[in-house]
Amino acid sequence: MIVYTDQVLSDIGVHISSFEPERGGALLGIPFSNVVCRFVPDPEAYTSGSVYQPSEKLQDRVQQEELKQGLQFFGIVHSHPGGFSQPSSQDRVAFLNSLNVNPHLAAFVAPIITMDRSAVQEQSNEISLTPRGRLTSYVAYRPKRAVEIEKNKWLRRSREAPNLEHLFQKYVHGDKETVSVVPMDCSVMPIDAHIACVTRNLATGETPVHRTSGFISLAGSSFHTETLRGDGFDVILMFPPTYPFTKPALLFTNSTGKPSETRELEFNWSSLAAHDQVLWNAVAKSLVDAIEHSRVGLPVSHA
Ligand SMILES: [Zn+2]
Repeated sequence: MIVYTDQVLSDIGVHISSFEPERGGALLGIPFSNVVCRFVPDPEAYTSGSVYQPSEKLQDRVQQEELKQGLQFFGIVHSHPGGFSQPSSQDRVAFLNSLNVNPHLAAFVAPIITMDRSAVQEQSNEISLTPRGRLTSYVAYRPKRAVEIEKNKWLRRSREAPNLEHLFQKYVHGDKETVSVVPMDCSVMPIDAHIACVTRNLATGETPVHRTSGFISLAGSSFHTETLRGDGFDVILMFPPTYPFTKPALLFTNSTGKPSETRELEFNWSSLAAHDQVLWNAVAKSLVDAIEHSRVGLPVSHA
């Protein structure tokens, strides 16, 4: 399973599926997770109606993102003409090259974008894009190497029976350079929509709320973080890779006091409904209580 954040899908819609094919860009994710949380566009790529060749600038941009954000390069997304939603034979060669130059990658995430139609529910490796088209999710793996003892067995047999020579050639040599590309189930992590709703609600009145996104690794677990800075308070939501099935951690900082005080706020997470209000509904009371206490200069209580 590959999880794409709604922000990544929205960016792919803006930079790829809004245009005629082929176009592409890089995908970065939270290390040691299956969450793709950053799309890096590639406007300098060499492209035609049937070719997408990533630019060197994309590589530089990816390296900068990896260093700056602590994210990891996961793969490349690109569009195809018509309804051709499978990787081509040239794509497979490119996937293998990418795996070879990125030895730290166990797998290479390589979705194909087509604009022929939206996703259909029966296809678990498809997601609809805005304003049009679909993402079809694939993952490429390194080819399996023939085991030495098996090689010897085939060598002996091929000598004994020359008509098996072609099988020997195929077994020992043939599969070595063929990358394994499999359709991969995928889902959407709706962070952007949910945070936009929280931000809207916190910003009521004259107080603006500034939002910054990030990533943090704590005690072996990885989280996508969203920091909302308002008048006299900071709210940090730490989303696990299993969101929205698992609730985020909610940290509240009263920045009016000296020194500022950070507490984790508790809230109930019983609804798994996919609508945008779900996060705000869950955290609203504990957040509003904490902010009210913060504004009147009282210590923040445990909710
Ligand atoms: Zn292609």
